[in-house]
Amino acid sequence: MRALRKVTEGPGLELVEIPEPQPGWDDVKIRVKRAGLCGTDLHLYRWDGGAPGSLTPPQTLGHEFSGTIVELGEGVANQEGPNALKVGQLVSVEGHVVCGRCRNCRAGRGHMCLNAAGIGVNRDGAFADYVVVPASNVWVQPDTIDPELGALFDPLGNAVHTCQQVELTGQDVLITGAGPIGIMCVALAKHAGARHVVITDLNEDRLEMARSVGADAALQPNGDELRAAMAELRIREGFDVGLEMSGAPAALQTLVDFCNHGATLALLGLPTKPFAIDWHKVITHMLTIKGVYGREMYDTWYLATFLTETSPELRETLRSVITHRFTPEQFEDAFATAGSGQAGKIIMDWEK
Ligand code: ZN
Repeated sequence: MRALRKVTEGPGLELVEIPEPQPGWDDVKIRVKRAGLCGTDLHLYRWDGGAPGSLTPPQTLGHEFSGTIVELGEGVANQEGPNALKVGQLVSVEGHVVCGRCRNCRAGRGHMCLNAAGIGVNRDGAFADYVVVPASNVWVQPDTIDPELGALFDPLGNAVHTCQQVELTGQDVLITGAGPIGIMCVALAKHAGARHVVITDLNEDRLEMARSVGADAALQPNGDELRAAMAELRIREGFDVGLEMSGAPAALQTLVDFCNHGATLALLGLPTKPFAIDWHKVITHMLTIKGVYGREMYDTWYLATFLTETSPELRETLRSVITHRFTPEQFEDAFATAGSGQAGKIIMDWEK
């Protein structure tokens, strides 16, 4: 089968032929249909950031994907009941394989596992014709979800998980960072009944995309522009909620500066290094800051499915986040486009 792999340490990837993986006990073998590129993949491709040290070549990348079940390993085959996995089902997959032994795992908080391994980071991933994953990581999709939308469930889950941390109905929401997950947060906040959603980004193409999915204002992260937008939208006392999706130090300070006293800030964007913010304001404004990682296992998956299942409009809004589609053979172009900063979500079609 084809697999897009890091063959040796250093920049780049190679599309190579390797044997198909075989499912072990409690494993599921999946024929990959669509796979998304994310920032983690870009760091692994370039071999920068935290990439060296997290991945040991040779290894296949890819963790945002959908596909169909083609084989069930012993332990999951022949199960009965409404939750039984079956050959032919369209599935998405949670990318963190948890240990099941640490305190958080045993309390049902797998997303806080101390020993999580990442599919496509610490074990072979889904930039391949076939991938094998533990059955517990498999999420069966309803008929309303097609392979393309199914490949969005990892980043969609990040967006839903971030939104789970805050009250949105009737609230004024400020989002910093209009990458694919920030754009999804705009759509989710509007869907949940936020009063106004304002988003900032440096990239004008991304701001335009944010407007097209319903942002009330999409602007450069500039204090004067923000104050003008707030005046126009009659946000007099500051935003009720802040969602940080960029990892940029200045963006967190913007949320601290422009959110109301008592606001909640949920942070998903990963900074590359420690930085200072105005803690005096955080304390005296009684701000609540929540870090968010991955998806709640598995409540976020239920919420993401229920939200999209009942709203054709939300499904098509989410699909609009996909701006580029490539074949596996075009992977160099796919990664170059991802690195350009001019793209929304990039999907590789493994059926081609
Ligand atoms: Zn654990």
